[in-house]
Amino acid sequence: MNNKRINVLIAGGGFGGLYTALYLSKFSWVQSGKCQITLVEPKDNFLFSPLLYEILTDELQRWEIAPNYQKLLLGHKIQWLQDRVTGIDIEQRQGFLATNSYLSYDYLVIALGRKTKFANIPGLEQNALTFRSITDAEILKEKLQIFKASTKLKTSIAVIGAGANGVELACKVYDKLLGEAEIYLIDRGQEILKNFGKGVNKVAKKALAKRNIQLLLSTEVKEVTAHSITLKQNHTINEYATDLVLWTGGTETIDLIHNLPCQRDDFGKLLTRPTLQLIDYPEIIALGDVADVRNNKTTPVPTTAQAAYQQASCAAKNLQAILQNKRPKSFYYLHLGDMLTLGKGEAIISSFGINLSGKIAGFLRRLIYIQRLPTMRHRLQVFKNLIFGKKNKP
Ligand SMILES: Cc1cc2nc3c(=O)[nH]c(=O)nc-3n(C[C@H](O)[C@H](O)[C@H](O)COP(=O)(O)OP(=O)(O)OC[C@H]3O[C@@H](n4cnc5c(N)ncnc54)[C@H](O)[C@@H]3O)c2cc1C
Repeated sequence: MNNKRINVLIAGGGFGGLYTALYLSKFSWVQSGKCQITLVEPKDNFLFSPLLYEILTDELQRWEIAPNYQKLLLGHKIQWLQDRVTGIDIEQRQGFLATNSYLSYDYLVIALGRKTKFANIPGLEQNALTFRSITDAEILKEKLQIFKASTKLKTSIAVIGAGANGVELACKVYDKLLGEAEIYLIDRGQEILKNFGKGVNKVAKKALAKRNIQLLLSTEVKEVTAHSITLKQNHTINEYATDLVLWTGGTETIDLIHNLPCQRDDFGKLLTRPTLQLIDYPEIIALGDVADVRNNKTTPVPTTAQAAYQQASCAAKNLQAILQNKRPKSFYYLHLGDMLTLGKGEAIISSFGINLSGKIAGFLRRLIYIQRLPTMRHRLQVFKNLIFGKKNKP
């Protein structure tokens, strides 16, 4: 290896990108300046999305789940560029930025996540709210506060999609409105929480029933307007008045990824080797929601924060191995379990055959997630807030 400084460019500062950068920054090559890490992320704040629901009910504050990158990266050998990657020239090893500049790299980490996919339903994109970002959460919270203050007897809210996002959102929205709402959870499938075990499903159904949340399964949404939703059930089509429609229906690959000359799966995800390296470009690592990690020996890797978090550690170790001319290792996904928030202060935790639900699970879930927050300093601040109830930003 010559003395030229090695540039590692990390595109995207979510679970995959930020945690890879943090792991890498501890390595001696980075500490000694032989290797420069540049993280390109357009947003001001990282988002710890599993705790986004708690913003609605004031269980957590914005700074706790969406810490600012500048503060977060203080003292870490990571250069954060608040910019957007607009393209990648894989042959020239350059990443293009929205500010009309470019960055050359020796190694590239692609961790750009996915974006909301709107189904082809008339009026959906124009009239439904999504729940994926801190801005989404704040807009929804404001709307709910208006509903709460209004003199209308009952607000009607339709949540489309009975996956984890829809179930968790429906329960939290109900609790935020202190029961003063009729909530409909709509899905065209026959079951809620398709990818979860029976235990989780049963507890989630109980939580929905306790809140009188109407489950409309095998139901197709045909149209959404500013004040109504049209549903097809058993060959019958009906229009219902609604005050708010929330869409949790799915995600898709961002355009930039479609434009890369790389192998992708049917969902547009980048196909990687078991080591997370792209099949034709070993100098590029892809992880998180953007990647389809092919490793036949393990369970398929889900598009979750849990998987991206585990991949980040593997990505950093493999980059270090490559820099030291060692063989990178295959990623092995270990499913540690599932955790869902089911209303204010409550949750279900399912791990290695053990299910725990209710308030204790709610508290434990919070503790587990605090331990997963990026950087020790941030973890301690959030933990202090949980224990001592110090409500203001540190
Ligand atoms: C509300 C919600 C709740 C969730 N709950 C859970 C849960 O309980 N458990 C769980 O395991 N998973 C959960 N997930 C899924 C989890 O958030 C994702 O799987 C995880 O964030 C994937 O990490 P990632 O790094 O691939 O993508 P992300 O975390 O989405 O990060 C991608 C980053 O790339 C940035 N970016 C995008 N385009 C560009 C560009 N052109 N240039 C530069 N940067 C760019 C984005 O701003 C973003 O910061 C939840 C998701 C949501 C939305």
